[in-house]
Amino acid sequence: MAYDPDNIFARILRGEIPATRVYEDEDTLAFMDIMPRADGHLLVIPKTPCRNVLDASPAQLAAVMSTVQKLSHAVMKAFDAQGVTLQQFNEAVGGQEVFHLHFHVLPRHEGVRLRP
Ligand code: ADP
Repeated sequence: MAYDPDNIFARILRGEIPATRVYEDEDTLAFMDIMPRADGHLLVIPKTPCRNVLDASPAQLAAVMSTVQKLSHAVMKAFDAQGVTLQQFNEAVGGQEVFHLHFHVLPRHEGVRLRP
């Protein structure tokens, strides 16, 4: 499937719409999810066009996963969490709604369910 350069996350990357940016490096950006399903729910994306994991290069996956790991530690510490759930969806039938590769990082606390 083709990459749509006007998807919401591409527009965030270009600064066309606001986001609460929490981390950035040469290859990746992280920002808070606008409808958090857990306190500290954030999203990690590559800066280069990529629809999802099915469309990703090894370099894009490596860069994104490196940031996911770094921010998993950071967000657990910041939110005093005991664990973290990572979620990632591919294509509409796989649950994907925004078609720019992203990983959800969801801090988890004992006895607290993810919000719907
Ligand atoms: P799902 O909605 O099933 O989780 P995705 O994995 O495609 O599917 O997730 C898209 C995520 O992007 C959602 O969690 C949604 O809340 C978030 N989102 C949508 N628009 C914005 C935005 N402008 N800023 C931050 N997060 C956003």
